[in-house]
This record gives sequence, C-alpha cells and structure tokens, in this order.
Amino acid sequence: MAIYNPKSSVAEEFINNEEILETLAYAEENKNNIELIDALLEKARPKKVGNEVRCSGLTHREASVLLACEIPEKIEEIYKIAEEIKLAFYGNRIVMFAPLYLSNYCVNGCVYCPYHYCNKHIARKKLSQEEIEKEVIALQDMGHKRLAIEAGEDPQNNPIEYILDSIKTIYGIHHKNGAIRRVNVNIAATTVENYRKLKEAEIGTYILFQETYHKESYLALHPTGPKHNYEYHTEAMDRAMEGGIDDVGLGVLFGLELYKYEFAGLLMHAEHLESKFGVGPHTISVPRLKRADDIDPDQFDNGIDDETFLKIIACIRLAVPYTGMIISTRETQEVREKALKVGISQISGASRTSVGGYTEEERPHDSEQFDVSDQRTLDEVVKWLMEMDHLPSFCTACYCEGRTGDRFMSLCKSGQILNCCHPNALMTLTEFLMDYATEETKKVGFEMIEREIEKVPNEKAREIAKKNIEDIKTSNRRNFRF
Ligand code: SF4
Repeated sequence: MAIYNPKSSVAEEFINNEEILETLAYAEENKNNIELIDALLEKARPKKVGNEVRCSGLTHREASVLLACEIPEKIEEIYKIAEEIKLAFYGNRIVMFAPLYLSNYCVNGCVYCPYHYCNKHIARKKLSQEEIEKEVIALQDMGHKRLAIEAGEDPQNNPIEYILDSIKTIYGIHHKNGAIRRVNVNIAATTVENYRKLKEAEIGTYILFQETYHKESYLALHPTGPKHNYEYHTEAMDRAMEGGIDDVGLGVLFGLELYKYEFAGLLMHAEHLESKFGVGPHTISVPRLKRADDIDPDQFDNGIDDETFLKIIACIRLAVPYTGMIISTRETQEVREKALKVGISQISGASRTSVGGYTEEERPHDSEQFDVSDQRTLDEVVKWLMEMDHLPSFCTACYCEGRTGDRFMSLCKSGQILNCCHPNALMTLTEFLMDYATEETKKVGFEMIEREIEKVPNEKAREIAKKNIEDIKTSNRRNFRF
C-alpha cells in the first residue's frame, strides 16, 4: 500500500484536508442549529430580482451543514428548494445522452473498476473506426444526439490520436436523419497540449471523476499506474481549462470514502474553478459504486443508502444552482425518478457500458464496466419522463453556437433558459418523435409539446418555435443548429 505523503501541493491548496476536517466538525456541531439552518435555506432559495431569478448558492461549509442536518422537516425543505432551483434555471427539461465505450484497455490498478490492469479474465476490446461507425449508427437509430465517449488509460492502445480519430469519425456519421452533435469526453487526466487537441476536435464537456478527494484513500485505491499520482489527477481540470476547454464535468464515486468528506471536496473543487477561471464546473455527476466483473461493492465500507444519496444530490443543487447534474443508468428507475425531483438535469438512456455493446445482441456483455440497473430503451425512458412532466431534450444548441463556459452560465443566470432552451428542447423532441418514437410515445409527446410551447414567455420566440416544429413535422428541417 502507498504511504501517505502529507507534503503540500497545488491540489492540496484547493482540496485542503484540514479545511475539510474543520468543515465536517463545524457541520456536525451545527446539524441541529435551527437558526443557522433556516438562514442557509433562505440564502439558497431562488429569488426574483426585477425580471430575473437569482440564486446565491452556498459555500462548501454552508452546504455541509445542510447535508449533516437530521431534522426531518428541514430535510423536506432542502428537497423542496432543490426542486425550485432546478425548475427556475433548467425548467422541466432533462437533457438526454448515452455513453460510448471505445476501449477497455487500461494500465491503471484502480481497485473498484473491472478494467483495472490486474483483471486478467475480462475480455479486452478496442473498437476500430469501422466498429465505432456501427455503434454510432445504432445510437443514432435510437435517437441519440449527444454522446460521452469513455476509454481506459493506455498510452499504447488508446493514445490521444486514437481518441481524436474516433471523435472525427463520430461527428462525420450521418445516418438517415441522425447526427451526433456533441461528443463529451471522459478519458484519463492528460497534458495541456492534449486538452488543446481535444478542444480543437470540438469536444463538448471534458469529464473526469476524481473518484475520491481523500488523498490517503486515493493512493490506496489507485495503487499502480499513472493514475496513482493524486496531484496530476486532481489538477487535471486546471490543465483542461488552460488548454481552452471551458466546459468541464466533475464527479466522485460515492461509496469509496466517507460521503461527507467527498461532498465538501467536490464543492471546494467547484469553488476553486470558479475563483481561478471565472466559471465553475459545467456538470457534476453522482455515480455510486456498483457491482461488476471482479468487483463486489460490499468490499467497500462506505456505501450510501438511497435516502442519503438523494440528500447529497439536493444539497449539491442548493450549493451550485447553475451547474448541470447528471445521473446514469447505474441507478434504478425508482432512484432516478426521485433524483429527477431534487435537482438532476441530465440522464443517460438505453446505455451499454461495454465496448461494442450497442451492436452486440447478447447481454450481459463480457466487457461491461458496471451493471446497468435501468435497462429500458430510449423510447421507454423518453415516454416515462414525459409522463412525469419532465421534458426530454436532445438539444446541443449552446455547443453548436459556441455558447460554452461563462457564456452558457450567463444564459442560465439571466433566466433566459425558458426563451431559449425550452423551445430548442421542444424542437429536438419533435425530431425524436418524428424519426424514432413508437406511436404511443408520439401521442404522449405531441400532447406535451402543445402544452409546453405556451410556456415560452417571449411571444416572438414562441411563434418561431411553433413554425419550426411544424417544419420538422413536415420534414422541412432546413439548417437548424441544435
Ligand atoms: S477507473 Fe479508469 S483508469 Fe481506473 S481501471 Fe477503470 S478504466 Fe482504468
């Protein structure tokens, strides 16, 4: 096992162990301090300022007090405010995406991941460009427009050139009316130069999970390989931003360490990006440790129950009101349904977590990274969302218009989402319904579109959206940029 080296580094300046421990002590001391909790809830609540809705968010200390709070009626209020914030800034839209696993070759020894180097019985696969094309056509045929590509760290098998070629291949495929309009990238921490190359390849968000912010645990959980370097991994988002990528996605793997520690670390990381680059994370993901080949989640002591998991999501929502929040098919339909009510704004649908999984018939696949709990088709997920009054969105317009980083955040903060994103969501949903949906889903969808279009406050925006929706229905697509 690695020896914990307490020597300070840049990473440890913004993920400061002492500050986290003091935060946890402060939260514990104040977990029943009703006066403070009420003040924090009031601070977090969205407020109308002129025509705009504003939210101040919470610091990692403040949010940690709410996370520690054990008073049932206050916890209910946290959930209520989380839902209000989500509706105020994102409306009822839920952005859809799917992961695409390119390669599971990996040189790292992460003890919680089946792709770790020592796992000699998992099937190792890497997609060729022709195989990627087949996978992408399968994803386009479901209706997906936004992908997150995933690959293990392996300089021999998955060099940056392979990732760049794959992105080019993905953007180049147009099958029937299909197109992947935004490729998010989840690959290992790399150099500023490589981040610059990813930016030039026109990626959407660069996603990298910290796994755990607790340095000592991090070193033990990543005993071998380049990922063992805590500083290099933790400072990756700084290098990504220096390389010009202004949409970055954070996340920890809940279950590895004590969740209160991870929560404070995650928010400190967001605060660091905001103060250094003027823009916080574009998204935060909340994966929980799952069963997989060679991995038994019960071996890890820090698993969290569903109630705690939902409380974490809600408290993140209060702390960083403008950041998108992602939940994957690691979670069951039931948990996803609850999570959508407390702040989630983006979900995956019909995911395969194996290399080549979208074109393989048989399940379970022999190269899966984790068990998929929600195995419904995209059509089923879309219908399910609409029946709960969530509006599925396949929009990528911000990315297509270059509205990333602080430009996206200012759109979000100005409350213009209802005039901009809401119509785009309706138009892209129309595309989905026309091209890929079953008759049943179409019926639910077009009824929803009729209701939702009237919610666009600006009359001009509403009329343009109505015209565009009619055009899409009659196959007059022109050059929409969403
Ligand atoms: S978590 Fe990533 S780096 Fe670690 S073994 Fe799995 S694929 Fe490799």
